[in-house]
Order: sequence, then structure tokens, then C-alpha cells
Amino acid sequence: MGFSTDAIHAGQRPDPTTGAVTVPIYQTSTYVQEGIGRHKGYEYARTQNPTREALEANLAVLEKGRHGVCFGSGLAAIHAVVQLLKAGDHVLLADNLYGGTYRLMAGVMAPLGLPFDTISPIDPAVIAAAIRSDTRMLVVESPTNPMMQLVDLEAVGRLCREKGVLFVVDNTFMTPYFQNPLELGADIVVHSATKYLNGHSDMVGGAVITADDGLGERLRYLQNAAGAVPGPFDCWLALRGIKSLALRMERHDANARRVAAFLEEHRAVTRVIYPGLESHPQHALARRQMRGFGGMVSAVLESAEEAARVLPRFRLFALAESLGGIESLICHPASMTHAAVPEAEREKVGLTAGLVRFSVGCEDVEDLIEDIRRALD
Ligand SMILES: *Cc1c(COP(=O)(O)O)cnc(C)c1O
Repeated sequence: MGFSTDAIHAGQRPDPTTGAVTVPIYQTSTYVQEGIGRHKGYEYARTQNPTREALEANLAVLEKGRHGVCFGSGLAAIHAVVQLLKAGDHVLLADNLYGGTYRLMAGVMAPLGLPFDTISPIDPAVIAAAIRSDTRMLVVESPTNPMMQLVDLEAVGRLCREKGVLFVVDNTFMTPYFQNPLELGADIVVHSATKYLNGHSDMVGGAVITADDGLGERLRYLQNAAGAVPGPFDCWLALRGIKSLALRMERHDANARRVAAFLEEHRAVTRVIYPGLESHPQHALARRQMRGFGGMVSAVLESAEEAARVLPRFRLFALAESLGGIESLICHPASMTHAAVPEAEREKVGLTAGLVRFSVGCEDVEDLIEDIRRALD
């Protein structure tokens, strides 16, 4: 089936009780049992919930995996993934991951005995050199947030397989519509469903998808044993959002291309970072491993003062954390999404105080460009 057909139908069928076309919100904590050990496969809602199962089955299909396991947030999903490890296992993190992922490792997992190092994920040779005999997991985003660096997923996937390292790709930015890391060599894909999957900025959620039965089983165990499950209403919102994922991603992508081109021409902008621009150093790789370039555009302004002057001047682009909703947002990563990352780490990847990040929404692109023109001029 094509992507949109799967997005609209996979994991979902009319409700067996009433024929409702839309999967109902099974807002219940428990299920009646006919007798001891006799039930319909549902005992307690942390363990099983039909609305959540529909979302999980849907995401497994869209990401070309076999198992989808959903969580109460993107970070809860990533937390479950690192819980696949045991104390002493070494983790490699790409050096400009989502700030919360870094904080989870530095502030929660490292004190529990998971040592980690950060590395630039751009050059597979650098990763190969950083893999130690006790390294068990590599976590990357591609493109990274907000520097829009790409990881050669096929090359790194091969390397990780050779070395016995679990390769985890956070696919929040691209979504399965534009990129399928499992097909390129990743073992595990994670998502903040809060972003493009849901797409309407009205819930928080996360998902893990894998094609490996052993990992899938263990993740299911962790979901129940650690209990960071999403509520049924949030699962339902994500399911509804995903039905229009293809339409939205097409629009995000088209609008972002126009916005990036406009910014590149503007004299107040020192540099525009967008994988769809020919000026992006990894544009060729982007064309090879992605089916589009997405809706995230970063721009470097002259200084921190210039960023502080310009940011409150936007009217359509709301100054806010998060991304991937139909409405356009702008953010200042150094003080907002990436404030948890030490300044030295930020500077190392070029995440300076003059950098602003646009989450280009689905509005009319002429209005978006006019808003940017007015704010920058
Ligand atoms: C937002 C985000 C997360 C964290 O997800 P939450 O749903 O906020 O917990 C992880 N990775 C990326 C790339 C994100 O943008």
C-alpha cells in the first residue's frame, strides 16, 4: 500500500462493537473478566489498551518495522530505549541531539552507571574510532536539531552491525513520510509524536519502532514494567494527526524550501542551514536518503543581540519551544530547547546565540515570508 493509505488505515478497523469507523478512545483502566484467566486479551490498561494498540500498529507499518511501542512522551520513549542496556554499557551520543536527550543521559542515566561520550556523527570514520569494546548503543538524529547535520544512515548502520552496536535513530524531524531509518540500517527508530506525527500541537507522546522481535518484546516488557504509557486520548489525537501526515509534510516541505531561499537572500542573515539548499554541505546525502527536506530551517543572525531584537517582532511565527505543528513557530535554541546543553558543547557544534530555528508551518507561504521580511527589516 502507499504511504497515505497505510497512514489512514493501518492498525485500524471499524470498532467491533458498534461499527464506529474511527477507533474509539478506550478511556478505561480495567476490563471485566468472564472467569479466572478468561478475558478478551485485555486485563489492565497499563498493559493493554485498544486505542494505543491501533497507534502502535499504525506506526510499525509506517516506519517499516514489526513492533511499535508507544510512550507518554518522546523522552519516555528514549528512556525505554536506553533501559535496554545494563550498567556499565557505553553509549555514544551524536553531539547535537535534542537537549532533553542529552540531559536524560547526563543527569539520569550516567549517574546510574551508563557512561557516554558525545561525538560528531557526520563522518562514519569518527564514529568507528569512538566505538569501544564496551560500546553497546549509538543514538543519532538526522538531520540534527538545530544544526541540520546529516548522518549517513546506511554507512553508520553497516558500521554498527559490524561492531555489534545498537543503532538508534530519532526520526522526529523527517517522519516516516520522508525517511525510513530501519530500511537504511537502524535497529531502532524513536519519535517524539508530539511533533509532526500528531502535528497539531495538542498532545505529548513518544514511540519506539523496531523490526527485531527480541528488541520489540523487551520494549513491550519495559513499557509495562516501567509504566511510562500514553493515555488513550493522546493516542487517539496522534492517530488522527497521522491520517494527514503526508499532506502536511508536503506542505511543510514546500513552505520551508521557499522560506530557506528567502532567508538565504536576506542581508541580515549570515547563514541558512537547510538540507534542501544546494549550499548545505550534505545536500547530496540528503537527496539520497530522504524523500524530502522537511519543515525545519535554521538561520544564523549576526549576534545574540540581533536575535534578541528580531525574535519578538514576529507575528505569525510564535516564539515557542516545540516544532512540527501546522502553525509556524520560531525559537532560540541556545536559551530555549538547548539550554540544558553546556555552552562548550553548544559552541562545538556551532549552536551560537545568534542562531534561530524556524518550524515552518502549513500557512500560506506568502504570509510567512512577509512576516519574516517585516521582522528582519
Ligand atoms: C521534542 C523532541 C524530543 C522529546 O520529545 P518529547 O515528546 O518532548 O518528550 C526528542 N527528540 C526530538 C528530535 C525532539 O524534537
